[in-house]
Amino acid sequence: MTEPARELPQIAVACPMCDAAPGDLCTSHSGTRVRTSDTHQARTTAWSTSRKGGAR
Ligand SMILES: [Zn+2]
Repeated sequence: MTEPARELPQIAVACPMCDAAPGDLCTSHSGTRVRTSDTHQARTTAWSTSRKGGAR
């Protein structure tokens, strides 16, 4: 079983899109499908925002 999404840095933050907890994979379509190869773009954005220290 390969889940390359688990290697992505943004997996360390929660996903604002599908509400995945930190360390969990993103799910799509009401949580019926796990996204094993990538995450939501919103999660990547949330990660880079938090990484910058929330400068806003
Ligand atoms: Zn997500």
